[in-house]
Amino acid sequence: MSDASSSYYFLDEARAGKAGLPSFVHEGTATGDVRAARADFPALHQRVNGHPLAWFDNGATTQKPRVVLEAMTRFYERDNSNVHRGAHTLAARATDAYEDARATVARLLGASSPQEIVFVRGTTEGVNLLANTLGRSRVGAGDEIVLTTLEHHANIVPWQLLAQSVGARLRPVPVDDSGQVQLDAYAALLTERTKIVALSHVSNALGTVLPVDSMIAMAKARGISVVVDGAQAVAHLPVDVTALGADFYVFSGHKIFGPTGIGAVYGRRDLLAELPPWQGGGSMIRDVTFEHTTFSGPPARFEAGTPSIGDAVGLGAALRYVLALGLPAIAAREDRLARLLTDVLSDIPRVRLIGTAAHKVAVASFVVEGMRTDDIGRVLDEHGIAVRSGHHCAQPALRRFGVESSVRASLAFYNTEDEIHRLGAVLRRMMRTDDVKHWGATVKKGDLSSSA
Ligand code: PMP
Repeated sequence: MSDASSSYYFLDEARAGKAGLPSFVHEGTATGDVRAARADFPALHQRVNGHPLAWFDNGATTQKPRVVLEAMTRFYERDNSNVHRGAHTLAARATDAYEDARATVARLLGASSPQEIVFVRGTTEGVNLLANTLGRSRVGAGDEIVLTTLEHHANIVPWQLLAQSVGARLRPVPVDDSGQVQLDAYAALLTERTKIVALSHVSNALGTVLPVDSMIAMAKARGISVVVDGAQAVAHLPVDVTALGADFYVFSGHKIFGPTGIGAVYGRRDLLAELPPWQGGGSMIRDVTFEHTTFSGPPARFEAGTPSIGDAVGLGAALRYVLALGLPAIAAREDRLARLLTDVLSDIPRVRLIGTAAHKVAVASFVVEGMRTDDIGRVLDEHGIAVRSGHHCAQPALRRFGVESSVRASLAFYNTEDEIHRLGAVLRRMMRTDDVKHWGATVKKGDLSSSA
C-alpha cells in the first residue's frame, strides 16, 4: 500500500495551475464568498423547460464542480489501472490517487488515520456493511437496536433484516411536533438490551439536525455502539468524528458534490479491527487455501474486489473543493438561504411546513392544502424548478406528521435568493387560481408561463 499521506494528485493539479480549488480562489475573490463558486458547476447553468434551472433537489443528489469532472477524466486518460496490484507505473499512480482520496476523506471527517476509512458504494452499502459485521457480532435474540423516527429507509431496513434474522427488535425514538427527537424518550429507550444505536445526523425528509453529540455521549455512557448516517450532513456542516466520539459514520459521495458509486464508512480503528469481513473476494485476504483464509486488516478487509477507483478520485477532488471553500462558510451561507426559504414559504396561504425544528439545514418539506404533491412538483418543473415530491425514503418520518408524501426543496450553498423567490412566485400563482382542483388534474405545460 502506498503512503496514505501521498499528495501525488494534489501536486499534479497544482502544477497544472488548478489544485482542485474553487474558481473564486484563483479569481482572488474573498475567501468565504461561496456565492461565486456557483460558476464552477456546469449543470447549474442550463435552461429547463425554457427557464433557468433552479436545482432544489440536493438532498437526492448534488451537482458536480468542474474540478471533479476534470479529475475523473484525467484519471481515465492517464492513470487508469487497477489498484494494489501490478508492478507498473500506472498501477502505482492509480493506487496513489485512490489512497490520496482516502486520506482526504479522513481529513474531511477529522478521522485520526486514513486507515479508519473504508470505501463503499454509498451510505446504503455502508449501513449494510455495518449491519452485517457489527450487527451480526453484537446483536442477538431479545436485543434491541435503537434508531429514530427520522431515519432514511437505508438506516432502517438493513437493521430490520438483521433483527428479523436474529430475533432482535427495532426501537424508534419519537420526535416532537417540530420534528426534533425527544431526548428524554431516547434516554428511556437505552437499556441493557440496547446493542446498537443508529441515527441520522441530519434528517433527509425534514432537514432536522439531530443532537448527535448528546445522543452519542448518552449511548457511550452505557457502552452501546453508535452508527451515524451522515448522508445529509457532510455537505452542510463541519463534521469531526473524533470530537463527536462517533464509533461509525457513513456518507455518500454524490451528496457532497462527488460522483455516484462511491461513499465511505468511518470506523474507529480499534472497532474496525474487531469486525469480521462481510463480502469475500480479492484484495481482502492475506492467504487463501481451500481449507482456510486469513484476512487483511482494515480497511482492505472490507473492500473486496476492484473498488470504484475513478469515483474515489472524483470524491477526493470534491472534498478538496469543499474543504477549500470551508464548511463554516458553506453553513453560514446556507443558514441565510434557509431563513429566506422558510419566510417565503410561511407567507404562502395553505402551505404547511413539515419540520420546523430550531436546528435545521436548508431543507423545506411542505404540503399544500388541496393539492397533490406530485402535481406541485410537476408544475414547478415546468418552470425549471427541480424539487422532490414523494416519501423521500423516510415513510415513518412523514407518517409521524400525518402525510404520505411532501414536496421537498433541499438547498446547497450554490442556490440563490432569486431561485427561492421564483419558487415562491410559482407557488403563489398556483394558490391564486380559484379552483384548486384544477392543479390536481388539468394543469398543462405553459399554463403558468407568465408567473415566474
Ligand atoms: N441516508 C440518508 C439520510 C439519505 O438522505 C440517503 C439518500 N437519500 C441515504 C441514507 C442513502 O444514500 P445512498 O442512496 O447514496 O446510498
